[in-house]
Amino acid sequence: MSNPHKYHRILLKLSGEALMGEADYGIDPKVIGRLADEIIEVQRAGIQIGVVIGGGNIFRGAGLAAAGMDRVTGDHMGMLATVMNALAMQDAIEKRGGFARVTSAIQIHDVAEDYIRRRAIRHIEKGRIVLFAAGTGNPFFTTDSAAALRAVEIGADLLLKATKVDGVYTADPAKHSDAVRYEQLGYDKVIEHKLEVMDTAAIALCRDQQMPLRIYDMTVPGNLMRIMRGEAIGTLVCGD
Ligand code: UDP
Repeated sequence: MSNPHKYHRILLKLSGEALMGEADYGIDPKVIGRLADEIIEVQRAGIQIGVVIGGGNIFRGAGLAAAGMDRVTGDHMGMLATVMNALAMQDAIEKRGGFARVTSAIQIHDVAEDYIRRRAIRHIEKGRIVLFAAGTGNPFFTTDSAAALRAVEIGADLLLKATKVDGVYTADPAKHSDAVRYEQLGYDKVIEHKLEVMDTAAIALCRDQQMPLRIYDMTVPGNLMRIMRGEAIGTLVCGD
């Protein structure tokens, strides 16, 4: 399919919390449906797309460990939570006529195929939306790191992090009225100033592999497609 847009292949990171909407836990079908619509729109515009989904709407290993559970077991539960979210997104995409595949970094053959890089790339080339589940497959990592890793592995030309704020600010805009949004930032500045963009391991991998990262507000419908058209929405983190 011809693609007049700025990007050829992207990796979108959705946090588990993005799927909850206004709820405290779980998945809001309306929210996941709208996100599925936006993802399908991008795919139909000829842009190849992979998605890494988090699990924080269900379980986080660190939270479970703080409550007394073994950390590795908690992280396994967190990774399995991402599989549930990915299955829900696969369902939402298919209900809308799109094609999706869940690939899991933890073997769980009855519900998802294993993550095999070449197979995942083949799916993406064929217009399937690949949902990368179970993070990196390793405890003590996050799905931000998984997103950076998969973006590099599949040769994405942009990593997108969908959030509830419209980019990265000099200070918390909810607390400081004079906070200013960065249009563009270097990787090292994000790390040095501990700006809450993605965790340090994810930013360091993006920096080392020169993977551009855009942080944008996914609560505004249509933002994903606007970025594909080249609009400078949110904050771009890239080389200085
Ligand atoms: N997780 C993990 N290894 C990974 C990715 C995730 O152990 O490579 C676990 C970890 O416990 C994490 C949970 O899965 O807290 C859910 O992922 P994350 O917190 O990144 O989800 P998000 O904040 O994006 O919803």
